[in-house]
Amino acid sequence: MLSVEQACEIILKVIEPASGEVVPLVEANELVLTEEVRSDADSPPFDKALMDGYAVRSADCHEGIREFQIAGEVLAGQAPDRPVAKGSAVRIMTGAPIPPAADCVIPFERSRDLGNGRVVLEVERAKSGGNLARRGESLRRGDLVVAPGALLGPAQIGALAEMGKAAVCVIPRPLVAVLATGDELVPADAIPGPGQIRNSNEVMLTAQCRQAGASPVPLGIARDSRDELRTAILQGFAADFLCLSGGVSAGQRDLVPSVLADLGAENLFHGCDVKPGKPIWFGRLPAQRAPDSRPHWIFGLPGNPVSSMVCFELFVRTAIRRRRGIVPALPTLVHAVLTKSHVSTDSRPTFFPAAVTLTSDGFQATPLNWKGSFDLQSTAGANALIRFSEPREFAAGEQVSVLPLGRSVGGV
Ligand code: AMP
Ligand code: MG
Repeated sequence: MLSVEQACEIILKVIEPASGEVVPLVEANELVLTEEVRSDADSPPFDKALMDGYAVRSADCHEGIREFQIAGEVLAGQAPDRPVAKGSAVRIMTGAPIPPAADCVIPFERSRDLGNGRVVLEVERAKSGGNLARRGESLRRGDLVVAPGALLGPAQIGALAEMGKAAVCVIPRPLVAVLATGDELVPADAIPGPGQIRNSNEVMLTAQCRQAGASPVPLGIARDSRDELRTAILQGFAADFLCLSGGVSAGQRDLVPSVLADLGAENLFHGCDVKPGKPIWFGRLPAQRAPDSRPHWIFGLPGNPVSSMVCFELFVRTAIRRRRGIVPALPTLVHAVLTKSHVSTDSRPTFFPAAVTLTSDGFQATPLNWKGSFDLQSTAGANALIRFSEPREFAAGEQVSVLPLGRSVGGV
């Protein structure tokens, strides 16, 4: 049976990053840039004051002049053209261009206005370039602002805005249709009858899609009937990915794989050596068989809520990140120290719900009292999964690998 790593390799092989499209810059946060952006101007575009104070010639200060003639004022947004004369000081505000001939700003805190148009400045620490930023100091015209492949965040977006980019070419969020399957399911706001349970997977997977940077399209519940499954799956093919939960194991009513096959989807793997999540199904509807002539990828996640959740984190998130052009697309595990001993009994590598905290000594992981793949309630206390790679006792203090869930580990 495939290992998690082999399954992820298949996912990376059959999915390529989507092509970019132009969006307004304000909508580009957390999207990957596909173009190279170079600066259209020097940054800063002129020598500018970094403090409120007096612009002077540093040479005057070094010559021992202390009392200066106040020769006007420059505010942010103005463009001074009169050079500062020897022995003169020009009042200047933060962000204003340095007037010609001045090369230093003495802050107001180090000045005493004599009230007669003259000012005494503390010139001892004055130096050329003091309290000002030189034109082009942070970036020259034509320099690279952001490289293609960068995941845009607030700082990059600000830097792009500074360079006049109002729209950028980025990879859009993929659409992920989410379909719950099962005769026993009722909507989350219903009172379950005998033998029925609430559909918790749909909202959970929808939330995971959002967290992974995809746009979810929840499709509700399909019964374990070929017709209903077929109709709902066809609807799901409008999205880039279809994420089904339930109906992929070996049960009598596990119809998802055969309905998918009838609809022309090819299976790329079925089953993975992982706990929870062993029955996972992954496949693709090739472009030539798709109603919109574009490829679609399909995940059939096992219905048990924690299996669905873990398979999403390992496989669906990898697929979404790959499609979004994010590197690395693979899940990143971090080292943590076990706070208590734990016996892992299954021969499969096990992703075990855990509470991880960030301490001054690094991450510490506490396995929760988790009872199995049906047990979503204790998983609700987890912010990470510990990977127990083999069946044995793991001792307190031992180092383990953990997969953070979302951004909740260590408060980041
Ligand atoms: P299945 O994979 O269809 O065999 O389902 C495995 C277990 O997961 C069964 O106990 C189902 O009742 C449960 N299950 C399936 N789908 C959901 C769902 N959407 N929400 C909560 N539990 C589910
Ligand atoms: Mg089922």
